[in-house]
Amino acid sequence: MNYEAFLSRQGSGLRESAIRKMGTLLANAKDIVSFAPGYPEEALLPWAELREIAGDVLSGTDGSVLQYGATRGYRPLLDVILEIMAQRGVTSSLEQLIVTTGSQQGLDLVATVLCDPGDVVLVELPSYVGAISALKNVGAELVGVPQAADGVDMDALSATLRRLRAAGRTVKAFYTVPNFQNPTGLLVSQAKRHALLEWAAREDLLLIEDDPYGELYFPDVTQAADTRPMAADDTEGRVIYLSSFSKTLAPGLRTAWISAPAPLTARFDLAKQSIDLCTGALDQRLVAEACRRGVLARQLPRLRAAYTEKRGVMEAALREQFGARLSWVTPRGGFFLWTHLPESLDATTLLPVAQRHGVIYVTGDAFFVNGEGAHYVRLAFSKPTPAQIQEGVRRFAAAVTEASSASAPARTPLPASR
Ligand code: PMP
Repeated sequence: MNYEAFLSRQGSGLRESAIRKMGTLLANAKDIVSFAPGYPEEALLPWAELREIAGDVLSGTDGSVLQYGATRGYRPLLDVILEIMAQRGVTSSLEQLIVTTGSQQGLDLVATVLCDPGDVVLVELPSYVGAISALKNVGAELVGVPQAADGVDMDALSATLRRLRAAGRTVKAFYTVPNFQNPTGLLVSQAKRHALLEWAAREDLLLIEDDPYGELYFPDVTQAADTRPMAADDTEGRVIYLSSFSKTLAPGLRTAWISAPAPLTARFDLAKQSIDLCTGALDQRLVAEACRRGVLARQLPRLRAAYTEKRGVMEAALREQFGARLSWVTPRGGFFLWTHLPESLDATTLLPVAQRHGVIYVTGDAFFVNGEGAHYVRLAFSKPTPAQIQEGVRRFAAAVTEASSASAPARTPLPASR
């Protein structure tokens, strides 16, 4: 039977993300070092503490643990989130908050509530694939703006907006991941964040600030001074702020939140009602208890130390294997190292070679909404152990060497007789 005729435009337009595709590759292959998905290392998750908490909350004394709950979220968890927001410098309130089933659902809610088909959302070049697909699914058009070392190029951002408005387009928002961006690892400067807030006010736009990695900073970063969200300085109510427990506690708990101006949060609430009624009651309780019992507070320094070490191991291995042939900007937090391949190698052509050598990554083009990025690779150092990272980089280097020598004849001049 052919089901195409039954599909909606949205249904038939759905595409698998490059990262999910990598997950399938991984599932089919043993002994592969995966630098592809931004997963945490499972051994770093607080298994024993979560086991104990799960035993306690499932003791049967509180029936609501396995019951439907409020769409906005489990009240004690909302209180915990308010505290976390305050630690990040953001004054939020219950009217502004909603718990979401991962930030991925948050992005979907934001896309649904803000965008009609044809509306434009501005994004960084490159940008997070999950946000790209959530926005594309509702028919939004994404227009990319290049980034400098300290964040998006403000002149290019203004010029792009002027051009779009002159063409009669409706631009709704700018989406950004200011802390240790997925995929570049970039930390946007505080000056740039202030410039973005001023620009959004001047141009009457919203800012979508996606911050799952802000707590995972490395030693040269000062949290309050460097990772302070734009939401903390948002006097006009222009920032829709998203964050998640996925990278700090466990992604399997699917617990995240949005803090936004109250009228928008009310809309997210309505949209969420028709998607899942509420985020899993058990997940929310595990997270709330983990925060209340200090599990999160104990996890954060451990995670920062572990990921700092892995970043260091990956950089050292890349330097050892490639010398100056490979270039990247040292990530100062988060899960990712973003690198430009040597000798104009194409990341998509290299991928099957790399896979044969037993290593995979995500190709850079997945993160660009304008078709660029062919020569970039995103390497996630979060999940593999330090020994696996060293081995993976050795395999990656072997693949690059093989692909460079294979592509070399193409560059030899054509015979004079032709
Ligand atoms: N935003 C960014 C920038 C991410 O990297 C991720 C996870 N890869 C998410 C949102 C979604 O995270 P989750 O749904 O697990 O909260």
